[in-house]
Amino acid sequence: MESGTAARGTETNGASAAADVIEVHNPATGGLIKTIPVASPETVAATVARVRANQAEWEAMGIEGRYHWLGKLRDWLLDNEERVLDTMQAETGKVRADASNEPGYLADLINFYGSRAASFIGEESVRPHSPLLASKKLRIQYRPYPVVGIISPWNFPLILSLGDSIPALQAGCAVVIKPSEFTPLGLTEVIEAWKNEIGGPDVFDCVHGVGETGGALVDEVDFIQFTGSDRTGRKVMARAAETLTPVSLELGGKDPMIVLADADIDRAANAAAWGGMMNSGQICLSVERIYVEEPVYDEFVNKLTAEVGRLRQGADDAANPKDVGAMTSPNQTAIVEDHVSDAISAGARALTGGNRVDGPGDYFEPTVLVDVDHSMKVMRDETFGPVVGVMKARDAEEALQLANDSRYGLGASVFGEKERAEEVARRVECGAVNVNDVLINYFAMDVPMGGWKQSGIGFRHGEPGIKKYCRSESLVITRFGGKREPTWYPYTKTRRRLLAPISRFFGARDWRRKLGLRR
Ligand code: NAD
Repeated sequence: MESGTAARGTETNGASAAADVIEVHNPATGGLIKTIPVASPETVAATVARVRANQAEWEAMGIEGRYHWLGKLRDWLLDNEERVLDTMQAETGKVRADASNEPGYLADLINFYGSRAASFIGEESVRPHSPLLASKKLRIQYRPYPVVGIISPWNFPLILSLGDSIPALQAGCAVVIKPSEFTPLGLTEVIEAWKNEIGGPDVFDCVHGVGETGGALVDEVDFIQFTGSDRTGRKVMARAAETLTPVSLELGGKDPMIVLADADIDRAANAAAWGGMMNSGQICLSVERIYVEEPVYDEFVNKLTAEVGRLRQGADDAANPKDVGAMTSPNQTAIVEDHVSDAISAGARALTGGNRVDGPGDYFEPTVLVDVDHSMKVMRDETFGPVVGVMKARDAEEALQLANDSRYGLGASVFGEKERAEEVARRVECGAVNVNDVLINYFAMDVPMGGWKQSGIGFRHGEPGIKKYCRSESLVITRFGGKREPTWYPYTKTRRRLLAPISRFFGARDWRRKLGLRR
């Protein structure tokens, strides 16, 4: 590795990066906050080996023992909320209101998995399907992958790194995180607190760097939880294939909103403004495309434009709160600018916004585009910025067909009269749909969230969100039996005469019906 060079992720966000420190900037002001050393592949291997050595003891603590430590982490997060928010706000350029979602979500998640882990991954007892197995006791136990590697993006630096660690730690895994090179500071503060203030077991750490460090982590661990772009997701999956390491991929989205003619248009417009602009539109579940039934199109567009036009943008402080913050990654601002100019050059109109804001800081104006269509990047590719495109749909069928016309399938929302909206929601091709709300499914951690199509593989939240960190081990335990089973040697004629009809009978599809039993 070349010595004395610094990366800001942007230019080096790939496997070929050659830098020994990362520069972390404040996107709201452009100022440099801190430089931190990049972990070499050797450091990554040593970190994984160290936490691996302690994992067996962590697993042996059991669900309650591990929850004891995660509960301490929850309390630390709540007690130190302002300190963590200050760090995170500085490295992301978010407004305070957007940053403040993170600690509360994490505390809720710790309680959620702490109280449900036993039912999600506790040992299962299974009734044999056939009387031929009556002498067996069947059990499934869930054993953790020893070390889970988490590679995370910059848009929610704690939710998407610590948030994915919580079920893994609760399941009994050791965890090493490679946070985004843009936003490593808040997470580092939490990990340092785990080690030094909480005194937690040495099963939880992080390593810093760009793509090269992420790749090194993939090589060392037993399971990879990746959140980021589908472009990087493909690279991570290809690298994991080298060691046959299982992956869970939470990737990009291009979430549609459908507004039916019988919707409450005020609610739909307010939801679209918040769902599209919250966190400067840098959410995988942001509303990016809106399809409105013809009779209410004009009313919806007018109300949405008015709501978005009222938003205050800029660097945020307690005396002068703002609604929309900075763009966290300069790479992303360039993509947003490209999508908007591509649309406008093809005939779209910006009813509000449409431009990058002059510095200091990195901002893009909250933007509502109309006269858009699916030939434009802004309706096809992930924009991940404060931009929504609105299209008129002839009817619900056309809105649905347009919503499903995407290579992505992460989330969606449908606004309309309850029953009709629910009926439409059931036909959207994606992992989670909100009816008469936006983004809320992320906080409904009771139900899984994962992408269809190119939005991902696997789930977070709910039972699958912790089970994925475990390998199932089936136990087939003999309760009683003689010196030998009838199927063992010797293969005699009598055995053949008796055994074959019995096994044919019980192997037959409808033996239960033959015996007059319920299927
Ligand atoms: P990204 O793919 O550029 O980077 C994500 C992480 O991967 C970073 O930590 C980066 O350093 C690392 N990385 C880069 N190259 C790598 C390589 N070759 N091997 C291993 N690791 C590598 O994504 P980003 O720009 O940080 O985040 C934005 C993307 O994340 C958007 O597409 C967004 O939709 C997606 N996202 C998805 C979800 C979800 O839950 N589905 C949530 C948030 C963000």
